[in-house]
Amino acid sequence: MGTTNYGEIFTERLEVRGVLVSMLDNNSVYIKVDSHNPDAEQVRRAGKILQEGGLVAFPTETVYGLGANALNPLAVAKIFTAKGRPSDNPLIVHISEVRQVYDLADDVTVPGQRLMEAFWPGPLTLVLPKKPGLSENVTAGLDTVAVRMPGNKVALEIIAAAGVPVAAPSANRSGRPSPTIAEHVMHDLNGKVDLIVDGGPCNVGLESTVLDITSEPPVILRPGGITREQLEGVLGHVEVDPAVSFDSEKLVPRSPGMKYTHYSPEAEVIVVTGDEKLTFEKIQYLINEYKDKGKKVGLLVSDEISRLFELELVYATGSRNNLETVARSLFDGLRTLDSQGADIIIAEGYPSGGMGDALMNRLNKAAGHNIITV
Ligand code: AMP
Ligand code: MG
Repeated sequence: MGTTNYGEIFTERLEVRGVLVSMLDNNSVYIKVDSHNPDAEQVRRAGKILQEGGLVAFPTETVYGLGANALNPLAVAKIFTAKGRPSDNPLIVHISEVRQVYDLADDVTVPGQRLMEAFWPGPLTLVLPKKPGLSENVTAGLDTVAVRMPGNKVALEIIAAAGVPVAAPSANRSGRPSPTIAEHVMHDLNGKVDLIVDGGPCNVGLESTVLDITSEPPVILRPGGITREQLEGVLGHVEVDPAVSFDSEKLVPRSPGMKYTHYSPEAEVIVVTGDEKLTFEKIQYLINEYKDKGKKVGLLVSDEISRLFELELVYATGSRNNLETVARSLFDGLRTLDSQGADIIIAEGYPSGGMGDALMNRLNKAAGHNIITV
């Protein structure tokens, strides 16, 4: 975790029923809950705020979400304001029970049902034909709706307590790396949301896979927590939207969100990818080059490569042989190196396939396509 200062938020603490609550003016209320056994009173409180049109940031297994009542257009509008999110970027609607999907979508289809059975609750978002009546600002005027049932106890209980479907994008300022711990949310949105529920670190650490099943074959609009291989295990062939690929700047994506700057720290990011030994050598070369220019260099690299460098700012993401661990810490790595004052972040790339696809998609965007293949 970084060394960011959250102002006064942690200086005045209140215990209510054994749960930490901050009560400062102009700050969001912050509560900490047990990820396996969240306090029922706090869950009810979060649900009530959502139901009544407020904003609640809460943990999911992918990243922290910024929730609003999906049936209340004014509440949904607050999400766009708090995040600084472009209004043509639609939101994912989160549900706590599978049956709720039939209130939102017109035709769930047989493949859709098989996917829900295989991967819900979990990091898979399905794009479906929307039912008339759903707020226009949830879907940004599209005739489809994106729906997901998150695999996180705190999230499921809060959504159930709200008693309504909950529209929730990632709980970060638009364009910034997504939040994977409550401190990230605090850093970006303190004072802009009613309640921040801290349920510990997110298990997956990257956003959900967005899969459009309105076309045949289905198309991955965003790679994420469920891999292409896992989807193909259930569906047979699955396409990937060409705009997902690394050199996608000129393509118009089918998922509006894909065209915006994303996951960007303050520092400039360069990704070096390819052969492991050549990656090491290229990173060494770049470190020297940027140091000579007087830049403070931060490294975002696997455990294996991190051991080879003697540098002040090295964030080890996890093992190259276990990309799930890398996924879990990637966004924290970008934010931590920022808070430590890096001018430039040199990031190691990962092989394609499995979680590597989602990792490279996020890194490529964080780097604004500044990617060197060795
Ligand atoms: P976020 O929740 O911030 O991670 O972003 C949600 C992602 O889902 C964005 O990339 C959106 O563009 C995408 N999305 C949401 N609804 C739809 C939809 N109806 N069709 C296609 N993509 C969608
Ligand atoms: Mg997001």
